[in-house]
Amino acid sequence: MTLEEARNNLKTLQEKMSAYEHALGLLYYDGVTGAPKGTAANRGQTMGVLSEELYKLTTGRETVELLEFLDQHKAELDEKEQRMVFLLLKNIRQMQKIPMDEYIAHEKMIVEAEDAWHTAKEENNFPLFEPYLERIFADARKFAGYCAPGKDPYDYWLNEFEEGLNKERADEFFATLRAHIVPLLQKVCAAPQVDTAILKGHFPEAQQDALSRRLMNVMGLDPLHVGLSTTEHPFTTSLGSHLDERITTHYYEDDFASSLYSVIHEGGHALYDTGSDDSLAYTVLDGGVSMGIHESQSRFYENLLGRSRAFCDYLFPVLAEIFPEQMAGHNAEELYKALNKAEPSLIRTEADELTYCLHVMVRYELEKAVMAGRLAVHDLPAAWNRLYKEYLGVDVPDDRRGVLQDSHWSGGAVGYFPSYALGSAYGAQFLKKMRESVDVNGCLRRGDFGPINDWNRQHIWQYGSLYLPGRLFEMAAGEPFDPTVYTDYLEEKFSDLYGL
Ligand SMILES: [Zn+2]
Repeated sequence: MTLEEARNNLKTLQEKMSAYEHALGLLYYDGVTGAPKGTAANRGQTMGVLSEELYKLTTGRETVELLEFLDQHKAELDEKEQRMVFLLLKNIRQMQKIPMDEYIAHEKMIVEAEDAWHTAKEENNFPLFEPYLERIFADARKFAGYCAPGKDPYDYWLNEFEEGLNKERADEFFATLRAHIVPLLQKVCAAPQVDTAILKGHFPEAQQDALSRRLMNVMGLDPLHVGLSTTEHPFTTSLGSHLDERITTHYYEDDFASSLYSVIHEGGHALYDTGSDDSLAYTVLDGGVSMGIHESQSRFYENLLGRSRAFCDYLFPVLAEIFPEQMAGHNAEELYKALNKAEPSLIRTEADELTYCLHVMVRYELEKAVMAGRLAVHDLPAAWNRLYKEYLGVDVPDDRRGVLQDSHWSGGAVGYFPSYALGSAYGAQFLKKMRESVDVNGCLRRGDFGPINDWNRQHIWQYGSLYLPGRLFEMAAGEPFDPTVYTDYLEEKFSDLYGL
């Protein structure tokens, strides 16, 4: 094999992988959106066949030989090819370290665990889910041991979701957040509360749908490449490449803000993915690099921009046009205050900007303790409730609204949560840097996201997964990561909102 042939084969390999992922992604998307209820088994059959083919393609002898050949000629490859080979090989080497039978048993267990979690949550029955959760944490420890012997298993998983993250860094990060957010929240709770009357009323789905389309347009999401539909839980997915992006939302007719911010959040993910340079399409570098950077974009549009005073000046007249009766007698200032009401609560996904990271912190502390063997899965509910009292000051009435609320653990994801909080903090530093060259508030007041998107595209989106998240962050922010930029932002915003 010549190097030129190998480079061509690398391209063809990734095109094939993208095609399988495209088909699998579309099948999944159909399953959670339009598909008739009785079609799951039919879809499962096809997905099983395609997954097996994809697995063979990704880890087969020919592929391994190709990648090892290219790895030996690393010095002659360009930067993008080097990263492609690294990522593809990393995946194969990990798969090779986990015994096949254990991997298959784990995958099967996860399907059952997700089912058990749904029922356990519905019935408020933690003991039903407990044996699965035991196995999920046990497998997380075991697989980390196979893939990175000698490394702390929780460090292994933190690094899987955010390359470069470990417990030491996460501890320091969360300690900073906690030292600022907990006392700030106490002051907010003691202050006179904001009026949320503007958010109450009946908001028909058809009008909310019109609002979603309007927002997507304002955000600069290309309607020829980004689709919207409804699902139980909002999400974003790329189909085949960044040229076909789908976002979803969920409409509640008594609460327009829920879907409004789902659309902006998922729209932020979609902007990031679709902003990949076109040359990255059908390669493993297409789309966002890590969960932390991804959340830095979604939460950037949702909170730093979407819940800002300047954006409310643009948003209120739009709302008044779409919901004239409901908005009558209100104004942009009331909207801004109502959309930023901060209060301790039970559910992470409904939490406001100020308390959100405290919810994440609870999960981080618990995962860390279970992975270290300091906390038994059996004692998780009690520990959960204790930390909610300590960090947020709330009493958790039942496990349904406590330890059973998130789907991440049931899907086998341990170490995922910190990326939500990291993303929030990354975003604050991006905004600080962006303000040096872009009149962000002026853009938001006019509903002109062009210059904001251009900055993000130039500094973040275009690179896809080419750079490690830490490097990409520093390139864009122009300085090392410093979570006090985020806590300063929160202190300034909420002190002003609550007259502290
Ligand atoms: Zn997100």
